Amino acid sequence: TMGRKFIVGGNWKMNGTKAQICEILDFLKKGPLNSDTEVVVGAPTIYLQFTQENKPNNVAVAAQNCYKVPKGAFTGEISPAMLKDIGIEWVILGHSERRHIFCESDELIADKVKHALENGLKVIACVGETLDEREAGKTEEVVFRQTQAIKDKITDWNNVVIAYEPVWAIGTGKTATPEQAQEVHRNNVVIAYEPVWAIGTGKTATPEQAQEVHQSLRCWFESNVGPDIANCIRIQYGGSVTEKNCKELAGQPDIDGFLVGGASLKPEFVQIVNARG
Ligand code: PEP
Repeated sequence: TMGRKFIVGGNWKMNGTKAQICEILDFLKKGPLNSDTEVVVGAPTIYLQFTQENKPNNVAVAAQNCYKVPKGAFTGEISPAMLKDIGIEWVILGHSERRHIFCESDELIADKVKHALENGLKVIACVGETLDEREAGKTEEVVFRQTQAIKDKITDWNNVVIAYEPVWAIGTGKTATPEQAQEVHRNNVVIAYEPVWAIGTGKTATPEQAQEVHQSLRCWFESNVGPDIANCIRIQYGGSVTEKNCKELAGQPDIDGFLVGGASLKPEFVQIVNARG
């Protein structure tokens, strides 16, 4: 709450064909999607352009990963510059599958966040503990460490250099007020708290468990970055979110949206988008 716009991301992971993506885009077009909620869908790299060209206007597209430099001898990778070139606005970074299956370190993820922001992408940065870590009482330690790694690279979250260019301000003589610009810049980083034990397992954090970590993260931002950022930063919850559990989760004060895997491929994603309000 606190004026933070609710934001729901769909992470399609390595799923979909053109035909299936058309079906997903059809149910998103049909909606209706709550206009107070920002909606972002994360498509596989090979379908980014197809998704971008066929999506409705009220949905934005995210890449599921990108590299930390603009170009060069990095076979198989894509850069933020390339994403911008085909009109993609968002990138999901540090997803637990990237961290765990592809062994991405906190430091690499932080470098990617920094480079993506510098190139004008909006970032959904994922953090979250494994079940072992939770059971060892290390939830806070882990999510704070993952968030700190990002903080180490983008020391001042207010002074992150982002090419924010509102269309109404380009060549029109109208300028964003400093407050309007500042607000958008702040909102360009979204943290997704996804407990690893809740991703694709059918186990969901209870609303209380999720709220507890979200509140801790916001307190971490207050102490380590500052009260303004702490108030503005949107923290999504992810991990087996469904049509059934989304409303209660959305009612928690520090949950500002969701990152949805499995259910984002199904029509129930519309209900999840509309969980708030
Ligand atoms: C995810 O991959 O971001 C995720 C939360 O997956 P699921 O909703 O399937 O648990």
